[in-house]
Amino acid sequence: ALPPATNFIREIINDDLRAGRHGNRVVTRFPPEPNGYPHLGHAKSICLNFGIAEDYADVADTRCHLRFDDTNPETESEEYVNAIKEAVQWLGYDWDAHCYHAADYFEQFYDFAVQLVEQGDAYVDSQTEEEIREHRGTVNEPGTPSPYRDRSVEENLDLLQRMREGEFDDGEHVLRAKIDMASPHMIMRDPLLLRIKHAHHYRRGDDWCLYPMYDFAHPLEDAIEDITHSLCTLEFDNNRRVYDWLLERCLPEEEHESRPHQYEFSRLNVGYTVMSKRKLLQLVERGDVAGWDDPRLPTLAGLRRRGVPPAAIRAFCDDVGVTRTESRVQISRFEHAIRDTLNTTAPRVMAVVDPLKVVLTNYSADDTTWMDLPSWPHDIDNEGSRRVPFSRTLYIERDDFREDPPEDFYRLSPGTAVRLRNSYVITCERVVRNDDGTVKELHCTYDPTTKGNVDPVDGPTPKGVIHWVDAQAGIPFEARLYDRLFTVPAPDGGDEDFKTHLNPDSLQVHEGVVEPSILDNPDTQRYQFERVGYFWQDPEDSTRDALVFNQIVPLRDRWAD
Ligand code: ATP
Ligand code: MG
Ligand code: MG
Repeated sequence: ALPPATNFIREIINDDLRAGRHGNRVVTRFPPEPNGYPHLGHAKSICLNFGIAEDYADVADTRCHLRFDDTNPETESEEYVNAIKEAVQWLGYDWDAHCYHAADYFEQFYDFAVQLVEQGDAYVDSQTEEEIREHRGTVNEPGTPSPYRDRSVEENLDLLQRMREGEFDDGEHVLRAKIDMASPHMIMRDPLLLRIKHAHHYRRGDDWCLYPMYDFAHPLEDAIEDITHSLCTLEFDNNRRVYDWLLERCLPEEEHESRPHQYEFSRLNVGYTVMSKRKLLQLVERGDVAGWDDPRLPTLAGLRRRGVPPAAIRAFCDDVGVTRTESRVQISRFEHAIRDTLNTTAPRVMAVVDPLKVVLTNYSADDTTWMDLPSWPHDIDNEGSRRVPFSRTLYIERDDFREDPPEDFYRLSPGTAVRLRNSYVITCERVVRNDDGTVKELHCTYDPTTKGNVDPVDGPTPKGVIHWVDAQAGIPFEARLYDRLFTVPAPDGGDEDFKTHLNPDSLQVHEGVVEPSILDNPDTQRYQFERVGYFWQDPEDSTRDALVFNQIVPLRDRWAD
């Protein structure tokens, strides 16, 4: 049985399989340009394309190619190629032997160009770029044919060959499709196919100077690789006309039936961030962030470093789905997917990110008790516990104490009691101050009869429960807390430069303290710091001697929309 048609693309694939349109093949591709690090939007395309190959493997001959669309020499690099490969693998997908480069097809593109010229379907235009633009006309007004439009096949072939051999400067000539200068679709008014560019290419070096335009390269790449379903984002809707025209002209009649087809879906946009390699590059180059893998960025390298599990990204892409409706997805939806994944995979520990010292004046000075505390709450079906020290001096979260508490404040304040999670009830007896009047530490008493979750014998049961860390055995760490990167939901939606909306407080660093049990686990373990959020050690900066924890996501929504 065919997999369920969970979106319109899978409906098309199911129809094609039933009709036998591409034999029994389903071949997709993920075609990034290596001009930046991939982002969450690319994850949508990766999950879509590789997901189809995975899900149809039982019923069809499936493949998903990783294809580098590396046809712009100035902006591309090997570093970006590697970043893209790492991201695809990190998400859990595998291209097997099918990794390709458009730059390896330049000779084949040239052969197709010759074929088009010979068929009378393309010509060498020697107008300037500006003239070409001017003569294209407007939506209401047909274009003016180039004076070179009717060059003979021989002259075109001669010029084309000399273009390839490097005889001309950039912009002296271009190859154009000969379609229709009066077409109501601007894109069909003799689109450019090849242009001369004397530039160094990271893969080709300086051996080639005839670069294909997107509209020429993309359908041919798909045809060369026998792609069946070519999935791209909606802004290429119009380009489909050229795509279809070229494949009909370039492929032999008997291959038309099974040729690749392009289908468009809507881009993923997420609130409070930007999702364009070009814009992300600006942030990296200006130093607004610490690099492509800055945990505040929506790059897959940034999300990975932040600690987001790849399974959460796949679940999010699944949840967002594939449609033709443009929209901006709320960031809370992404965070929900992250919490959902981590809830059952991240063991609980206690850490205090903004410590306030508590001295238990009636607790013996040199007595440390080790408590065996569960690593999972009751509603999660995981086993496990860890040993947690408790002694006379502890840290609690500064926020969990208020000198002048509002009425509904159930945590600690002068004269009131609170439960320390999984241990004793304590009462705040005295506030000790620094010289400047700020709170230095709290002197409290503990009630020895309340260990575990036993209610106090006399006095009321406190409503509040707060987390804590033993001050002697606790381990200091740097806590990196991330807020939204921009202050508005659509930073690139208005007239202003998107960078004017950068949030100056998107990174907050605290000196925290965490229970020592974390040293028993691998450094890559993700945790829930109880009552705070999900954390893991920063893979670049954290060492056993100087721990750095990134907040992956807080426990609760902070996003207005
Ligand atoms: P950017 O503007 O970030 O450079 P792009 O579309 O130019 O994006 P490509 O490297 O050409 O980036 O994209 C590779 C594939 O990923 C394409 O098929 C593209 O449609 C898809 N893709 C890129 N951004 C998104 C997005 N935000 N949502 C869904 N798919 C995307
Ligand atoms: Mg692109
Ligand atoms: Mg781009």
